[in-house]
Amino acid sequence: MSLKMGNKLDGKIAVITGGTSGIGLATAKRFVSEGACVFITGLSQKEIDVSISDIGKNVSGIQCDVSNLADIDKMYDIVKDQIGHVDILFANSGIIQFAPLGEISEEHFDRLFDIDVKGLLFTVQKALPILNDGSSIILMASIGASKGSADLSVYHASKAAVRSFTRSWTLNLSHRKIRVNAISPGPIDTPFVNRVMNEKQTDEFIKNVVRATPMGRMGSPDEVAKAVSFLASDDSSYITGIELFVDGGMAQI
Ligand code: NAD
Repeated sequence: MSLKMGNKLDGKIAVITGGTSGIGLATAKRFVSEGACVFITGLSQKEIDVSISDIGKNVSGIQCDVSNLADIDKMYDIVKDQIGHVDILFANSGIIQFAPLGEISEEHFDRLFDIDVKGLLFTVQKALPILNDGSSIILMASIGASKGSADLSVYHASKAAVRSFTRSWTLNLSHRKIRVNAISPGPIDTPFVNRVMNEKQTDEFIKNVVRATPMGRMGSPDEVAKAVSFLASDDSSYITGIELFVDGGMAQI
């Protein structure tokens, strides 16, 4: 993939959780191409190493499971020791799981909320001491925050919580001139759904979501990364508390 080089993130220090795959990895590449130095987090050292060589420069990797608060502490200790501060935080890590009402187990609920809600909350809260005033925080939500889906009620509720955090945290952090915005992708071509479905189920799922999308296709991870980069940069200097949709129109009709 060739990225047009820019400099709108020159000298910025960014942390991207889940930066070893999909949207997080594409955003790490874009941030670096725009002049930032990036810390990516990943679940395994192996995927971190592969991503670091893929991104190529101005990137470090840290192992971190966001559902484990001690891991988040360790991650920020490393960032603090190596650089001391953060200008951009993209809380992106997340999982999806399917279960209709009637088949929702406690484990299903806990796993989704542990990673997509609790993990995101503490990723942001524990960053506060090292976030510079004037920083930009981008929270990974989803069109699911404003849509219904028979098999995804818990996942969608977790993303609605993220959208809600954006509103309240905008108030909590405005005195420090820290902007907080949510990004809500529609169907994006990443390994996200394949992780929990077989190939046939994934094809069927994708066919259905593409049919429901005005643009008639999935988005690419870099199409989301470009919007995240906008929210991270001074180009969005008077924008806070919003939910920016990158969804081919899916949730807009
Ligand atoms: P992906 O599976 O490629 O990336 C998910 C990332 O989250 C991976 O890097 C993974 O390692 C990380 N992760 C998973 N569990 C984790 C944990 N316990 N601790 C830390 N990291 C963990 O998929 P993606 O599509 O790039 O997803 C990124 C985010 O985008 C997710 O939050 C997802 O909900 C959101 N999203 C994706 C889509 C889509 O269609 N792909 C649409 C809307 C929102």
